[in-house]
Amino acid sequence: MRLDALCLENFRNYALQRIDFDPVCSVICGENAQGKTNLLEAMVCLSCGRSHRTRSERELIRFGEEGYRLEASIHTRDRDFLSRIEAGYGRKKRITINKAPARTAAELSQILNTVFFCPEDLQLIRDGPAARRRFLDISLCQLRPRYAAALAEYQRLHEHKTRILRDCGERPDLVATLPDFNLRMAETGAVLIHYRARFAGLLASYAATAHSECSGGREELTLAYQTVKTVTDPLGGHQQLVGQLLAHQEEHCYAELSSRQCLSGPHKDDLEVQLDGRCARSYASQGQTRTAALSLKLAAREIHREIMGEYPILLLDDVLSELDPRRQEYVLNRLGSGQVFITCCEEDRLHSLLKGTVYRVDGGAVTAG
Ligand code: ATP
Ligand code: MG
Repeated sequence: MRLDALCLENFRNYALQRIDFDPVCSVICGENAQGKTNLLEAMVCLSCGRSHRTRSERELIRFGEEGYRLEASIHTRDRDFLSRIEAGYGRKKRITINKAPARTAAELSQILNTVFFCPEDLQLIRDGPAARRRFLDISLCQLRPRYAAALAEYQRLHEHKTRILRDCGERPDLVATLPDFNLRMAETGAVLIHYRARFAGLLASYAATAHSECSGGREELTLAYQTVKTVTDPLGGHQQLVGQLLAHQEEHCYAELSSRQCLSGPHKDDLEVQLDGRCARSYASQGQTRTAALSLKLAAREIHREIMGEYPILLLDDVLSELDPRRQEYVLNRLGSGQVFITCCEEDRLHSLLKGTVYRVDGGAVTAG
């Protein structure tokens, strides 16, 4: 998969800009606040229809303008595609692929996929389980439509059950509806656990390799998928999983009624990250945290290639700061396979870059070379 060219019109601080990219590695250099992250944001929008930074379309429109347009020339599965987004200008947002209207934004991700790493991704290591569950969910939804459907169903059931638990004090008759919710949540929960466990297994092995190589063999990263306590084998059969989830719900039935919260189920799953046998969240240094978070993203990229047969494009925003020269060298030299976009502030860090084109960004204008 390759992003050959990008055209931005009134997007963030870009007025009108067309850029032809390097097929292997594009290094995007510039001072602070010139438009480096905005450029990667445009690529994210073209891969899934929305920004990673904001839900507001208004924010994406260049100050003083009425709308924006984005257009990408993409090569994938031996064919060329043109994906296009137009928003604002007093009309409904329009997405087209090769000039044909797309029904949903999800159609964009059949053409362009991105794995994006930015400084906020350090939360993957530092924050609580929700950040890591989100990472699992986003990665799996891209790869497995059945997972995306099960997740949407599970979230719907979870919200409904939470409302029932909240209201059943005033309306005791609602308690009678809980067994049905529990059964359906166990059925869909078992699907989530199955996919998450398999993904976590692959992730563990790819991320361990990436982290070990990046740290020059000095650190060992281990990942462990943690789910509902009664589950003895997350890779076990469906019926076994359902039975074990129901058993856990039963054990927590009174606790759920008294706390009025949904306590049992894979909505509490975690992916435990350890460095040299110690919890990374509590003990990792800044550089180690960055290396570990990056290793998770690089692993997700490998899994994407394994399942879909092509590398997604890799977007690395400000990845080099806080890394020592050895780790920077690894990041730059590992850019060998698949297309990579990397932003940075200081050009002198790039002495070890083997191949690629440098693009300078200055006030929303990009020049190559
Ligand atoms: P840094 O090195 O600090 O990360 P950057 O080059 O990544 O900088 P961007 O995040 O791309 O910077 O932002 C560049 C500029 O775009 C900022 O000054 C920001 O205020 C401006 N900007 C953001 N949204 C809009 C918009 N809708 N219209 C015009 N300018 C905008
Ligand atoms: Mg930036």
